[in-house]
Amino acid sequence: MVKDTYRHKGLRRRLVDSLRQRGIRDEAVLAAVDAVPRHFFLDKAFEEHAYEDKPFPIGSAQTISQPYTVAYMTVLLEVKKGDRILEIGTGSGYQAAILAALGGRVFTVERQEALYHRSKELLERIGFSSIRCFFRDGTKGLPEYAPYQKIIVTAGAPVVPDPLKEQLDIGGILVIPVGEDVQYMYKITRISETEFKEEMLDAFRFVPFLEGVKKAPGKS
Ligand code: SAH
Repeated sequence: MVKDTYRHKGLRRRLVDSLRQRGIRDEAVLAAVDAVPRHFFLDKAFEEHAYEDKPFPIGSAQTISQPYTVAYMTVLLEVKKGDRILEIGTGSGYQAAILAALGGRVFTVERQEALYHRSKELLERIGFSSIRCFFRDGTKGLPEYAPYQKIIVTAGAPVVPDPLKEQLDIGGILVIPVGEDVQYMYKITRISETEFKEEMLDAFRFVPFLEGVKKAPGKS
């Protein structure tokens, strides 16, 4: 198993410093980035680059988000201990681990079976067995555990799927990048049963939020 060495910890400290310089000021979020070994979530070939502020390929034509983007979205979520959090787009599992490190009760959904299996197994192996992983189409959310105090979508959606708004608790926050080529980060707060407050924030570029699931090759 890959180890978390002093060298890795030092690189992580520098990453935290660079996030602080880029404007991330939430100390709890910075502490979570400092605590979670990002190199566990990357292929061995990219291990050396794990603490650069860059996205990287994780297989199945997907990427692990850039640390700045993960931190930015996590700040917007205002995670409190015990929050029930739904993540759409497990990918590598890194964002889910950050949310769990902040004390969230995390439910994460992935539409690609190969990624779902890999991340579920990895999260258990490195001590995040409280994270519940699901192989699903996240456009429908995860109704059986709703409502969620927080929902985060880590793929670029052309529109905000209604089921996600419906599965948000009153007072809950949904963070989702919306748009076709470029996405704008939206923070949507549920004010009441019928009212939502929408804030449009900075521009980002995400892999697409797609409907339906994709089975792993060789499985029916
Ligand atoms: N949070 C991830 C980022 C992964 S990239 C990380 O920390 O590594 C976004 C992921 O969203 C991809 O794995 C992609 O397969 C997944 N995705 C896209 N559309 C989806 C959908 N409808 N339901 C669930 N997952 C989806």
